[in-house]
Amino acid sequence: MKTIYLASGNAHKLHELQTALDQAGLAVQVFGPDKIGGMPEVEETGTTFEANALLKAHGLQEMADKDAWFLADDSGIEIDALNGRPGVISARYAGEPCDDEANNDKVLEEMREVSERERSCRFRCVLALVGKDLEETFAGSCEGVLLQKRRGSGGFGYDPLFLPNESASTFAEISLDEKAKISHRARALTRLIDWLKSQ
Ligand code: IMP
Repeated sequence: MKTIYLASGNAHKLHELQTALDQAGLAVQVFGPDKIGGMPEVEETGTTFEANALLKAHGLQEMADKDAWFLADDSGIEIDALNGRPGVISARYAGEPCDDEANNDKVLEEMREVSERERSCRFRCVLALVGKDLEETFAGSCEGVLLQKRRGSGGFGYDPLFLPNESASTFAEISLDEKAKISHRARALTRLIDWLKSQ
C-alpha cells in the first residue's frame, strides 16, 4: 500500500482524492499534513501553477519519510482580456486576507468595458506529485466566459462569474456532481489517476 500525503488540510479535498483512488482500484492511502507535523509555511513565489504546486509538494516532502509520495495542487482563473490575470494570484487578487467577494468585484470592475465576445477565460488546476526520484505534474482546465454579473449562490471563489462552455449554468448554479464532471480540478485528477494506473 502506497501512501500519499496531501498538501492541504481541507478534509473535502482529502476525501475526494481518496474516493477517486479507491474507485480506480488503486491501493493508495491518503493522509493530510497533520499526520507529519502539519503543513509547513510555503511561499507561493512561482509564476506558474506548475511551479507553485511543486513548491508546496516539495515543502511537505521535507517533513517526512522519503519513501512516501507528496501531492499538492494549485489553481486559479486566467482571463484573456486581462492578459491571463489573476492567474496564480487568483486567491489574493484583491489583496490579503483572501476575500472571494472582493476578488469578484475587482475582476468585474477591470472587465467593465470588455464586450461579451471578448470575455473568454478558463480555470486551470495543476497537481504536483513528488517522491524519491519522482516529480510529475498533471494539468486540467475548463474553458468558459466571465459573466458581467454574478449568477448563483453555490460554490466558492469565482464560481458565480464563470459560465463554462459546456453548460448553460455557472459553476455557482450547478451541483457538485455536475461540476465534478467538467472542472479543471477533476480533469487534473483524472490525469493523475491515469498515470498511477500506468505505473
Ligand atoms: P490556490 O488555493 O492557491 O490553488 O488558489 C485557488 C484560488 O483560485 C481560489 O481561492 C479561487 O479564488 C480560485 N479558484 C480555483 N478553483 C476554483 C473553482 O473551482 N471555483 C472558483 N474559484 C476557483
